[in-house]
Amino acid sequence: MHKDTLRLILFIECNLRCTYCCNDNEKFSSMFLKARFNEINFDKYENICITGGEPFLYKKLLYWVLNKIPTRQSIYLYTNGLRISNGDIGKLQRYPNIKCINVGLHTSKQLNGVNKNLELHLPVRFMAQESKLESFIKLYPERLNRENVKSWRLNECNLLNEDWILLEDIVLDLLKY
Ligand code: SF4
Repeated sequence: MHKDTLRLILFIECNLRCTYCCNDNEKFSSMFLKARFNEINFDKYENICITGGEPFLYKKLLYWVLNKIPTRQSIYLYTNGLRISNGDIGKLQRYPNIKCINVGLHTSKQLNGVNKNLELHLPVRFMAQESKLESFIKLYPERLNRENVKSWRLNECNLLNEDWILLEDIVLDLLKY
């Protein structure tokens, strides 16, 4: 299958510890390619999915990467949303090629910690495990509905149209601090 999508793992660190995290699935994570940023041929892809770990854990690094991705590529951000401030919402609006912020919902209390301005100003899709989707919608009827929440299943990590690259770049690591 033609791989039209790059899933770019900025780093593995996360502020949550989900037991089912794909990054902890050895069968899957052993397939990650590793590369420095400048080695990646973005022209090969139509879509760039930026993920982690939690991308907003190291914001300087995240914005460096967002600035470097060619504007012709569509960007999809994957986050748990807990570190997104009003300042980030303002900054993210300056990237017209960000097509969607995908907010993974993992715990029943998590959405309380996700900035309510996010979905008011940016295209957002929430993502919930299939078995929890209805209970999340019931818990947050003012924010979640069947149109803005997509379900996923455990262990559905690998998508055939995607390359997965884990960024290994000592120079960029400096942007974490
Ligand atoms: S929030 Fe996402 S990246 Fe972080 S531990 Fe959970 S599944 Fe993994």
